Amino acid sequence: MKLVIKEDRTIEYAEERRLFYVAMTRTKNRVYIVVPQQRPSRFVAELIQDYSVVHVNGDLDISKTDSPDISMIKRCPICGYPLRVRQKKDFGLRLWLCTNEPEICDFMTNDLSGGILPILKCDCCKDGYLIVRKKDNTPFLGCTNYKPDKSGCNRKINLTYYENMLKRGEIEL
Ligand SMILES: [Zn+2]
Ligand SMILES: [Zn+2]
Repeated sequence: MKLVIKEDRTIEYAEERRLFYVAMTRTKNRVYIVVPQQRPSRFVAELIQDYSVVHVNGDLDISKTDSPDISMIKRCPICGYPLRVRQKKDFGLRLWLCTNEPEICDFMTNDLSGGILPILKCDCCKDGYLIVRKKDNTPFLGCTNYKPDKSGCNRKINLTYYENMLKRGEIEL
């Protein structure tokens, strides 16, 4: 390909990337991309990271892409280890999990914009999980048993409250 195109060195694999996007956007409805679970293409890893509409089936570990450039890999807001992505079928959620030893850090979130807010077992209904939700673009933890008609669990924890819980030692990191 180098022989026929002018190389754009500002973006890695610029021409291959362009072709990939062109091919993808020819679709009418959906695009299915099949990749190896162990060493998925960096192009696919980027799509998963950047677009929440990308649905992942299977046990894809995008921290093990073919890309040596780990700057694109999201890191744990608690310990700094790379995060890996899992699709959690029960909740229909994409989860980000810390790759550190679980005894050292077991951070897990469904939305990185929640910062240090992790998924927690609900301390109210003891049955649901507190996951990152957003209101007016402000992330907070809300129970998976929440129902709009208030018949479910209404437990909510905002960031300040969570930080205070940490300070009081009610939650261990
Ligand atoms: Zn961590
Ligand atoms: Zn609850």
